[in-house]
Amino acid sequence: MDCLFCKIINREIPADIVHEDDEILAFNDIDPKAPTHMLVIPKKHIATLNDIEEGDLSLVGRLQYAAARLARDQGFADDGYRVVMNCNEDGGQTVYHIHMHLMGGRRFTWPAG
Ligand code: 5GP
Ligand code: ZN
Repeated sequence: MDCLFCKIINREIPADIVHEDDEILAFNDIDPKAPTHMLVIPKKHIATLNDIEEGDLSLVGRLQYAAARLARDQGFADDGYRVVMNCNEDGGQTVYHIHMHLMGGRRFTWPAG
């Protein structure tokens, strides 16, 4: 499958991996928008948030749980952080394999741009 993140999962493309378990991979974003900017992804290929099915609900929960644990491990859980999932063109999605941006280490503004 011609998917960048599936290639990272399969080790066809290198990445700075920070967490891996049977269902989830997390790695540093190549173009960080914060002092810490990781992408937390399911190993299962799901193209967009619109493609999540009922059978994926626990996986999506695990994604969020992994992000929160990584935030704690990075030391910014209490100060706060930003989690973002972009969907399709208007949402700013550029890689069509769902991913949670976990950003921390600075103060974020709201609303997002
Ligand atoms: P999106 O715009 O789809 O929400 O986010 C895609 C993210 O993937 C961007 O933040 C971009 O910097 C990151 N990205 C794109 N290509 C690569 C890559 O080859 N390696 C890594 N580690 N991140 C990538
Ligand atoms: Zn994929």
